[in-house]
Amino acid sequence: MTYGMLLGEGERLLQGAGIAEAGLDAWYLFSHCFSMDRGAYFLHRGETLSEGETEAKEGFLRLVDRRRKRIPLQQILGSQEFMGLSFFVNEHVLIPRQDTETLVETVLSSERRRQPTRLLDLCTGSGCIGLSLAVYLPGEWHTWDGIPREQSREEKSEAGRARMEIILSDVSEKALLVAEENIGRLGLERLCTITQSDLFEAFEEQQFDCIVSNPPYIAEGEIEKLSPEVRDHEPGMALNGGKDGLTFYRAISEEAMKYLVPGGRLYLEIGWDQGRSVPRLLQTAGFVSIEVVKDLTGNDRVVKAARPE
Ligand code: GLN
Repeated sequence: MTYGMLLGEGERLLQGAGIAEAGLDAWYLFSHCFSMDRGAYFLHRGETLSEGETEAKEGFLRLVDRRRKRIPLQQILGSQEFMGLSFFVNEHVLIPRQDTETLVETVLSSERRRQPTRLLDLCTGSGCIGLSLAVYLPGEWHTWDGIPREQSREEKSEAGRARMEIILSDVSEKALLVAEENIGRLGLERLCTITQSDLFEAFEEQQFDCIVSNPPYIAEGEIEKLSPEVRDHEPGMALNGGKDGLTFYRAISEEAMKYLVPGGRLYLEIGWDQGRSVPRLLQTAGFVSIEVVKDLTGNDRVVKAARPE
């Protein structure tokens, strides 16, 4: 059997299971098992697998089988790219989504001149939001034309160390183990800490310049309609926002004010249909400067608000 035939077999198996991106998924699993990039594959695809590669072949078919069971590709490979960084993921955290980059970018563009000293990432999951902020926020992270500056991660951490602290919190201990792993992988131990907390419970008497969150916001009844990858393999507790999807926004609106310094900012990811309801909750709770930001596809995706000065 040649490499080409094996990859083709993987693709057919995935197609048979109704996987939409069968070719692409098969390729990622193949390149993972054979440590091959595109160039090497095209050069060698007509060659027969060697004796020594039986294990890699069996490994590949085992991964294809897992993917056929609708386990998300990122959980099989153990990583997802987000904001140009690689994050470890497993079944205990939501896989970082591109939508959420809108939240991070909104915080970056609004906060980089303010130099916040204490930031809280509530419901952090993999830690992708807080950790991206820890990488990009310290120092002047953009040149005038918006292109990230060449600056080593160590330099950035060093620059931010003196004045910034990012706290990643989650109610799930298993999620926090993932966040902790990501802190280590990105070398952000000096900027970031983790705290287990059911929303603000563990933060009595504390205040932050900035609170960021992508809480669970899918209405209970909608969860059944999600793809099997999300519905059956991503943590329900990271998705389920209660009967109307607003449970966490209600709690955050009611409580966040006292955990923000005067003038402190709150940034929330929201579902595409929550661009009216969430601002209303925040307004009722006394927040000011409320703005809704759209994502790249034109859907409402982020709400920013502030505690009055
Ligand atoms: N955007 C995610 C999804 O559509 C949900 C994220 C969340 O509930 N915080 O699956």
